[in-house]
Amino acid sequence: MAISLRAMEGIAADTSTMRAAVFHGPGEISVERVPRPRPGAGEALIRVTLTTICGTDVHILKGEYPVQPGLTIGHEPVGIIEELGPGVVGYQVGERVLVGAITPCGQCHACLSGKLSQCGHGSGYQAIGGWRFGNTINGAQAEYLLVPSAQANLAKIPDTLTDEQVVLLADIASTGFAGAESGKVRIGDSVVVFAQGPIGLCATAGARLMGAALVIGVDGDATRREMSRRMGADVVLDPSTVDVPAEVMRLTKGGADVAIEALGLQETFESALRSIRPGGTLSSLGVYSGKLQMPYDAFAAGLGDHTIVTSLCPGGKERMERLMKIVASGRFDPLPLITHRFSLDEIGEAYRVFSNRLDGVLKVAIRP
Ligand SMILES: [Zn+2]
Ligand SMILES: [Zn+2]
Repeated sequence: MAISLRAMEGIAADTSTMRAAVFHGPGEISVERVPRPRPGAGEALIRVTLTTICGTDVHILKGEYPVQPGLTIGHEPVGIIEELGPGVVGYQVGERVLVGAITPCGQCHACLSGKLSQCGHGSGYQAIGGWRFGNTINGAQAEYLLVPSAQANLAKIPDTLTDEQVVLLADIASTGFAGAESGKVRIGDSVVVFAQGPIGLCATAGARLMGAALVIGVDGDATRREMSRRMGADVVLDPSTVDVPAEVMRLTKGGADVAIEALGLQETFESALRSIRPGGTLSSLGVYSGKLQMPYDAFAAGLGDHTIVTSLCPGGKERMERLMKIVASGRFDPLPLITHRFSLDEIGEAYRVFSNRLDGVLKVAIRP
């Protein structure tokens, strides 16, 4: 993973350019000076004060997830409003804001049906937003970020919360919690969460918040199992030493009410399906590639009244505001998940540590 500080020397700070981590192709990302955007109608420019790296960014860098070369990646922004475009009301320059990973327009069929993450889909109407930072538009691993549909997406951060307390709410906590929410976890339920990476750990915390009486965290990594307990798991299982579905059946006396899949592999999807009781729910968060197969016996040949639901990261300011409340209340503490800190100029090293899972890394904080 080559990193260069191309074109950075000898240029005095100015307001027409900014530093950004630009994706040039598989394995190639470099911090360089690029034009600083200006907000148009309905847009806002924020000065990024903290961001992070997501597993999706690693897939992009490995060339497993197609993104246009020349794009700035990253989709987890915390910042300060630098400039507001015409038509954005209720906000002021200088306010601290959190922006979700996906920026729904708040106006289209999907948004008005409450499916904000599917903005732009679901009807013949033209969507005006639904952009994904670092995927369809320039992202957050930069000094400044242009936020489309700003009115629907800028969530003001209370003074009582630090940047590090909110940065993970943009994506991984929102996605992880969505696994428990979409799975409709009820008070007293038993929930098993497959894979305890950052999203799976947030799903574990989400299951606890939703009222589960038994939360089982599954991961092959001892450090992640330990963090799983810290995030609310009552029992942790290592799939390399136990038959997880059999053990879940034993612990729950017949199957978990909800299994959350947070990895995106055939193996974990199948294990999740084999771990739920008749009438249970498989809540899937993973992003799958290739073929996903469902053996007939794993879902009782279609007779088991199983529910399978999927969730993409929910976005929008109302979602961000609610997630900040759960942190402010003390019921969810995301700070243990931030294990490493880097400057924007050190982002190549941050990618190396994060993508190779070195040094017990879970999430990295990047300060532009
Ligand atoms: Zn992400
Ligand atoms: Zn929309």
